[in-house]
Amino acid sequence: MDFSAAKPRRVSVAVPVGKVMVGGGHPVVVQSMTNTDTADVAGSIAQVQALARAGSELVRLTVDKPEAAAAIPHIRDGLDRLGCDVPLVGDFHYNGHTLLADHPACARALAKYRINPGNVGFGDKKDRNFAQMVEMALSHDKPVRIGVNWGSLDQALLTRLMDENQSRAEPLETRAVMHEAVVRSGVLSATRAEELGLPRNRIIISAKCSEVQDLIAVYRLLASRSDHALHLGLTEAGMGSKGIVASTAALAVLLQEGIGDTIRISLTPEPGGDRRQEVMVAQEILQTMGLRAFAPMVIACPGCGRTTSTTFQELARDIQDYLRTRQPEWRAAYPGFERLQLAVMGCIVNGPGESKHADIGISLPGTGELPAAPIYVDGKKVGTLRGEDIGEQFKKVVEDYVRKRWG
Ligand code: SF4
Repeated sequence: MDFSAAKPRRVSVAVPVGKVMVGGGHPVVVQSMTNTDTADVAGSIAQVQALARAGSELVRLTVDKPEAAAAIPHIRDGLDRLGCDVPLVGDFHYNGHTLLADHPACARALAKYRINPGNVGFGDKKDRNFAQMVEMALSHDKPVRIGVNWGSLDQALLTRLMDENQSRAEPLETRAVMHEAVVRSGVLSATRAEELGLPRNRIIISAKCSEVQDLIAVYRLLASRSDHALHLGLTEAGMGSKGIVASTAALAVLLQEGIGDTIRISLTPEPGGDRRQEVMVAQEILQTMGLRAFAPMVIACPGCGRTTSTTFQELARDIQDYLRTRQPEWRAAYPGFERLQLAVMGCIVNGPGESKHADIGISLPGTGELPAAPIYVDGKKVGTLRGEDIGEQFKKVVEDYVRKRWG
């Protein structure tokens, strides 16, 4: 894969979130969010650790009640004891100012506070509560994310912009006014936080929407008006392939334009599903776009009427499993191995060509082809595998390649 082909990134102000740098040209950061009850310390530790092991570089937790705020320092301690130093982000709505003030250990243990300007209170209280949260961030030297959400937009701001729009000679469409309200809520809140003394390198903005075209329009506007680091994500993306496709469609457009310093994929888990899926999808988006490398990639053809059996499907899955199990050891011994690209192809139609583009490729025999599988390394045919144990022979070729290239 050509990792140099990605477009230049938008210039943003770098923000340190614990040990992780967000923005300022640093690699796009993958983050995720737990769905445990934060007050369940053991359950939350287990899930944060699982997400971090899967590759989540920041993990956000709901802090919605005193029990949750009280649990945060214990979760931090428990993770530290396990050697898991992933920064934790607190997700606050409505009562964040009170929880942070009443639980200083929570305020210290978190690496970042998420503030939703649409959910900090109403009327006079809104500004006062927002200011209190910013003051807590200042006194604990923590960054904040101004996290605007389409579903909890500041209604007073939206009403004012709608009224202004009505008095225009040529009113904008309602959707455009809503986009403006989302962007304005984020930028005005960030400006307010800076007026209160929070430096720009302690502020990240997000402006999440649940529809792809809205998200693209809003972030383009936001990126044109601000140099703050931006957190990117399609909110309420949905379940299964719908959520993955919608998130990918929206984020790919923006990332290709250099917009986005950290991403989260908000998938609704299947009942009993694996929360780590959102981390894997985020990594795959970044890797397939050539923005970052996390794990070796396997290119496998879909198979068709030319495929004689399920052999190539089984081999593709076998290789994928093998790569996953070898990763911890390779990560320690062979830095750079994550850029490895393999091709597992079903017949000679595209097999040799695709195999030559990968670091290592195998072209299995299709219908009517000789029972032999040519192997390609760095674009050259190096031999042909035969017999019942083609998979094992292929793994040995991969193992040798990784050791020689990155050892
Ligand atoms: S490589 Fe061969 S088996 Fe695979 S999809 Fe193409 S024609 Fe079908």
